[in-house]
Amino acid sequence: MTPTPLLPAPRALLEHLPAYVAGRRATSADVAALASNESHHAPLPSVLTAIAEASQRVNRYPDPQGLALRDAIAAHVGVDVEQVAIGPGSNGILQQLLAAICDPGDEVVHAWRSFEAYPILARLAGATPVGVPLDGERHDLPAMAAAITPRTRVVLLCTPNNPTGVALTTAEVEHFLAAVPRDVLVVIDEAYVEYDGSGFDGPALLRRHPNVALVRTFSKAHGLAGLRLGYAVAAPAIAEAIRRTMLTFAVTDLAQAAGLASLAATAELRERVGQVVAERTRVTAELRRLGWETPDSQANFVWLRCGDHHREELLAAFDAADVLVRGYAGDGIRITLADRASNDRALAILTAAPAVVAVPA
Ligand code: PMP
Repeated sequence: MTPTPLLPAPRALLEHLPAYVAGRRATSADVAALASNESHHAPLPSVLTAIAEASQRVNRYPDPQGLALRDAIAAHVGVDVEQVAIGPGSNGILQQLLAAICDPGDEVVHAWRSFEAYPILARLAGATPVGVPLDGERHDLPAMAAAITPRTRVVLLCTPNNPTGVALTTAEVEHFLAAVPRDVLVVIDEAYVEYDGSGFDGPALLRRHPNVALVRTFSKAHGLAGLRLGYAVAAPAIAEAIRRTMLTFAVTDLAQAAGLASLAATAELRERVGQVVAERTRVTAELRRLGWETPDSQANFVWLRCGDHHREELLAAFDAADVLVRGYAGDGIRITLADRASNDRALAILTAAPAVVAVPA
């Protein structure tokens, strides 16, 4: 018998790493794709032109500093270019940030349930994720402050929170920051900021607190999920650290060009965001009429909390109707808002399932 060749062993932590479950992708035009929080709008014509132009340069490496784009982001947020770092999606930015800040054994405090990449990225950085249960559908900021230990290096806040849609207030985060040691970085993940009508002011918090970092993405309202582009805004030394941990050339020239064009298309984007927000208002009212206590979402999705039994029954009904939504074991269902017709398909399923809907857990 030939002996099994000895293989290099992957790091032990990979065995315990929870897998990232991506929203299912539509496989045909008949499917309503409401399982991932992306934009249902096709890219804007001006963005497509910028991508086409940039495609002629793909024999060249991109600008590793992303200077033109960082300049535009700095102007957009109202900060200095030294405060901006870019990365391949906000996932990439979060990975860079944790790699820049955390040593093995450090702790990363985050709300739970929240964006499911947080515990995965923390573990990948060798850190220990500390999930603090939500208070209803909101971050429990007092409990998160109490979870900070001498090992805590990063706190991740998500507003509006994925998947519950609830936004934090500037005042409550200000209050929270007063309880956080100055050497702990408080990261505010604003992936859905463009849809947020709550008045939350991340840049104001950043101006007042050098231990705050904002993380944003071009994947949602900007409609560039497939190109992978995100950014962080932080104190210059933190932004520099996040730039250093980026895989060189990870942000392509196509992504940089598209990001620049998208930042310039303010009016078109506002109009698109307005459509989603109008649908959010309509769908939320309809859900409440059906008996769901859905929270006020400030994002491009709505949240239905339900027990596992209801969730399974509803998910089967959604599946049977070719409507892809996102189920979360033990918690509920998230439905991404898209065009009116797709949203109506989701509502029709909930309307036709009164036995389940009448008693949301
Ligand atoms: N943060 C939050 C809160 C998200 O919901 C998502 C996408 N689901 C991301 C970050 C990552 O998005 P991307 O990497 O496409 O920017």
